[in-house]
Amino acid sequence: MIEQQNIETNIQQKDKNLFGNDCLESDWTIKESQDLYNINRWGEGYFSINSLGHLTVLPKEKSADISLDKSIDIAEIIKEMKQRGIAFPAVIRFNDILKTQVNYLCETFNKTIKEAGFKGKYYGVFPTKVNQIKKIIREVVEAGKDFNYGLEAGSKAELLLSLAMNKNENSLTIANGYKDREFLELSLFGRKLGRQIFVVIEKFSELPELLMLAQKMEVKPLIGIRAKLSTQGTGKWSTSSGDQAKFGLTIPEILKAIEFLKLNHALDYLKLFHFHIGSQVTDIRTIKEAITEGARIYSKMVKLGVPLEYFDVGGGMGIDYSGSKTVDESSINYDIDHYVGDVVYILKQICDLEKVKHPNIVTETGRAVCAHHSCVIVNIFGNINVSNEDFETTPIAGEHVLVEDMRTFYQGLCVDNFQETYNDALLKKDEAINAFKLGILSLDERAKIETLYWKTCKKVFYLGRNTEYMPPEIQELETSLAERYLGNFSVFQSIPDYWAIKQLLPIVPITHLHKMPTKLCSFADITCDSDGRIDTFIDNTHNKSTLPVHDLNNLEEYNIGIFLTGAYQDVMGDQHNLFGRVNEVHVYQDDQAPNNFFIEEVIEGNRCQDVLSDLHYDPHSMTMAIDLKLKKQVEKGDISLKESIELSNYYKNSLQSYTYLKHKTHQQEILN
Ligand SMILES: *Cc1c(COP(=O)(O)O)cnc(C)c1O
Repeated sequence: MIEQQNIETNIQQKDKNLFGNDCLESDWTIKESQDLYNINRWGEGYFSINSLGHLTVLPKEKSADISLDKSIDIAEIIKEMKQRGIAFPAVIRFNDILKTQVNYLCETFNKTIKEAGFKGKYYGVFPTKVNQIKKIIREVVEAGKDFNYGLEAGSKAELLLSLAMNKNENSLTIANGYKDREFLELSLFGRKLGRQIFVVIEKFSELPELLMLAQKMEVKPLIGIRAKLSTQGTGKWSTSSGDQAKFGLTIPEILKAIEFLKLNHALDYLKLFHFHIGSQVTDIRTIKEAITEGARIYSKMVKLGVPLEYFDVGGGMGIDYSGSKTVDESSINYDIDHYVGDVVYILKQICDLEKVKHPNIVTETGRAVCAHHSCVIVNIFGNINVSNEDFETTPIAGEHVLVEDMRTFYQGLCVDNFQETYNDALLKKDEAINAFKLGILSLDERAKIETLYWKTCKKVFYLGRNTEYMPPEIQELETSLAERYLGNFSVFQSIPDYWAIKQLLPIVPITHLHKMPTKLCSFADITCDSDGRIDTFIDNTHNKSTLPVHDLNNLEEYNIGIFLTGAYQDVMGDQHNLFGRVNEVHVYQDDQAPNNFFIEEVIEGNRCQDVLSDLHYDPHSMTMAIDLKLKKQVEKGDISLKESIELSNYYKNSLQSYTYLKHKTHQQEILN
C-alpha cells in the first residue's frame, strides 16, 4: 500500500510539471514559453511574447524583441475581429511581412553583389504558384518595384495574372512549366506589351514551335533554357532535379538546342540559363553544389557563343519551420544571408576562373518570401480523453473475474513489473472485448475494465519515464494517453501540407504564455476523417507527438495559432466535408493606430451555399424544394403557416451561414 501511495504522489507531482523538473508554476516566465515553443528560432524575428503573455508580431522589422512597444498583440486583433463579427477559424495576414521579406532579399543581394565586386545585377522574381491571391501578388510587386522585382508563372492562368499585375518594364516575367501553343503565344503577346518576358524551354519540342510562332507574330522572343542538373536537392522535393526530373533539358539536349537556334539564326534570343533543384532545400551544401554545376554549364555555354545574360537559380530557399537549424525536412541549416552569399561568391569565382562575364542573377524564391506572412487562428472548443478516469471502479460483490484481474494489475504495478504488467493488461483488455461481444460482460463491467486499463497505462507510462530505458511500446503510450483538444478547423483546408506530406508547422497558444502549460495534447479537427488531426509537432531534437498546452478548465477561451502557413498551403486547401475557405483579415502595422495595427481588408470565407454551388447545387432550387415540402406539411395540418415561414427562413439562413462551427467556448460547452 505504501508503494501504491508513492506511485500516486509521484504521478501527481509529475502532472504538475510536464517537463520533469522542479520548476513551480509560479516561477514560470515568458522566456520559458519563448523557448518551449521555439518562437525566436522559427519566427525570423517577427514574433515574440508581451508581458501579458500574449503572442505578438512586428511585421515591419525582423527584430521582435527590441521594440516591443511597437509590436502588435495578436489577441487584440482577435478581439477586434470578434467585435466586427468575423467568425473563426480565420487567417490573419501580416502583409507588411511580405514587404519586409522582399526588401530584405533584394537588399541582401544588392549588398553582397557590391561587396563581392560582382559585375551583374540582381533581378528577383516571385513565383506566383506559391500564393496567387491578388492582394499578395500586389503587395509583392509593390514592395519590389524599386528593385525591379518581377513575377514567375508556371501556367496560363498564372501568366495572365502576371501580365496584368506587374507593370514594371524593367523587371522580368518568367514563364516556366510545360507549354502548349496558347501558353507560348501568350508569352509572346507579353513581348508585344513591351515586357521582359522569358519563355523557359522545359522540353526541346517547345523550341521549334516558339520560333515558328514568334515569326508569325513578328516578335523577338526572349528565350531561357532550363537545365537538368545532376545535383539533387535534399528534402521532400529532391526529385525536382537529377536524371529523373520532370522538367529541363539534359546536356546533350542543350547542345542540340544551341545547334537548332544557330541554324535558325535565333541564338541571339537565348539569354537566360535556368535551373531549379526543388523546394525547401534543407542543406546549404546542395545549394553550393547546384550553383557550382550551374555556373560551369553557363560558362561553357557562353564560350560556345551563346549570348547568355541571366543566370536563374530557381527557387528552393527553405524555411526553418521547426527552428532546429538542422537538415531535417522541416528545417534548414542556413539563412537568407548564407544563401545569397553562396550564390554570388560561387558564381563569381567560377565565372572568373572560366573567364566569362558575370551574368545578372535571377532567383525565383517563393516559400522563403511568403511563408511567414500568414497564420491560421483556431478556437479550441473542447477536448476528448480516452484515458478518462472518472468512472467509478471500486470493487462490488460478484463482479466478473476479468474486472478483478484488471484491478489486480493496476494495484500491483511497480517499477520492477511495469512492462510485464502492461503486456498483461493489453491482453486482458482484448479478452474483455471478446467476452463482451459474446454477451458475457455487461456494459458496466466493460466500462470498469476500460477505465482500469487506462489507469494502468497511465501509471505504466510514468513509471517507464523514470527508468533509464523506456521501451518503445511504452513510449508510444504517450500518444494514446494524450488528451486531444478539438479545434474548429479543417486540416485539409488550412494546412494541407501537414496532411499530405507531413510538413511540420509551429503551433503556439495565442494567450496564457506567462503561465506554465500543464497538459500534453494533440489536436483533432472537425472533419469526419481520422486524418483530420495534428499529432506531430516541431522540436529542437526529435519531433514530438504532443504539444504542451494550458488546461481548458476556467479559461474563457483558448486560441491556438498555426504559423508559417503563407506559402503553398494557402491556395492548396480542399473542400473535404465542404468546409471550404476560412475568413481572412489583412492586417497592417501602424504605430499611430490604437493598438499599433489596422485591419485593411476582410475577405469572407465560404458560406454553405458557396461550397454547394461549387458542386453544382443551386441554392435557389434547394430552397424551393424545401418550401414545397413545407407547403405540403401545412396542407396536412402538421405545422402552421406561420411556422412554415419561420422554418423556410431558417433553411435559407443556414445556407448563408459560415461552414465552420459557431463560436462556443469550452466553458459554454461545459455549461450545456
Ligand atoms: C516551385 C518553383 C519555385 C518556387 O520554389 P520555392 O521553393 O518556393 O522558392 C521556383 N521556380 C520553379 C521553377 C518552381 O517550380
